[in-house]
Amino acid sequence: MLTDGFGRVATDLRVSLTDRCNLRCTYCMPPEGLDWLPKPELLTDDEVVRLVGIAVERLGVTEVRYTGGEPLLRRNLVGIVTRTAALGAEVSLTTNGIGLTRLAAPLAEAGLHRVNVSFDTLDRATFKRLAHRDRLTDVVEGLAAAESAGLRPVKVNTVLMRDVNDHEAVPLLRFCLDKGYELRFIEQMPLDAQHGWRREGMITADEIFERLSETFTLTPDDRHDRGSAPAERFLVDGGPATVGVIASVTRPFCGACDRVRLTADGQIRNCLFAREESDLRGAMRSGASDDEIVERWVAAVAAKRPGHGIDDPSFLQPIRPMSAIGG
Ligand code: SAM
Ligand code: SF4
Repeated sequence: MLTDGFGRVATDLRVSLTDRCNLRCTYCMPPEGLDWLPKPELLTDDEVVRLVGIAVERLGVTEVRYTGGEPLLRRNLVGIVTRTAALGAEVSLTTNGIGLTRLAAPLAEAGLHRVNVSFDTLDRATFKRLAHRDRLTDVVEGLAAAESAGLRPVKVNTVLMRDVNDHEAVPLLRFCLDKGYELRFIEQMPLDAQHGWRREGMITADEIFERLSETFTLTPDDRHDRGSAPAERFLVDGGPATVGVIASVTRPFCGACDRVRLTADGQIRNCLFAREESDLRGAMRSGASDDEIVERWVAAVAAKRPGHGIDDPSFLQPIRPMSAIGG
């Protein structure tokens, strides 16, 4: 088991499959993009499958989520999903949705359980301004393809930025209610490559709740124990539809965190905001046995800090931006 010094057990593994992306969301990447990792530095398919296998079979991981960069840009994603879904863990994907029209059905067939699609605006001009690419239609079609392929419930992740898309909270919820998607708003975290995040500028969970409440009646959804789920869920107009708000910054849920992350270049990160990493790629490539990998992984998680410390005056943003960690 992957247990830390505060009694938390990591059962949810986030695996980044590439640091490349076809969008440039302002809260994540600079408009000019970043230098991509050279291919030899990326884990190969066999290395990914080996590490996921160790996590599931030896370390108690029950959920595996592929992310990026943009995971749909990973060649042979369907093959990786097929091989790792066969291990028995629940396998899901966080994606910007571009390419799902082609890949949703094969991924569902390969054993993918669910997708989370990042979707921040219904307006083409705003999409271009926020993501620096004109791809709104591809994302909308990708969402529909995921729904048709049975990857339900399709979850939508939205980050609101002040004076960019914060006026769209209500229309985005209306759109998701209409389509049967489950919307979750995520507070913007200091993980952008440009280090442009300012707490004062951030749209808080309370603000999102207030804006939605002007149009919808939101009541806490007490039907399920929240457990380690980061989203506070609300029934919309009495339900059954819900909306989630993830207050990562203003009401951190670090005390219930069950996540561990593996970067595309094979580094274990025990927290989104970790400043240290543990190198499993180097270990594997120098011939480490499964037992040695297990030992390293256990030690990496044991060193997890109690919380992200964004409010601490000594807080330092991690060197890797969100696009190279994986969300
Ligand atoms: N490209 C994929 C996507 O956009 O879903 C996967 C990688 S992306 C880094 C994973 C998630 O992180 C997305 O839902 C995105 O909205 C979220 N994200 C990126 N930067 C963020 C930030 N600074 N604060 C909060 N969420 C962020
Ligand atoms: Fe790409 Fe996802 Fe980052 Fe947007 S949030 S730039 S889609 S990695």
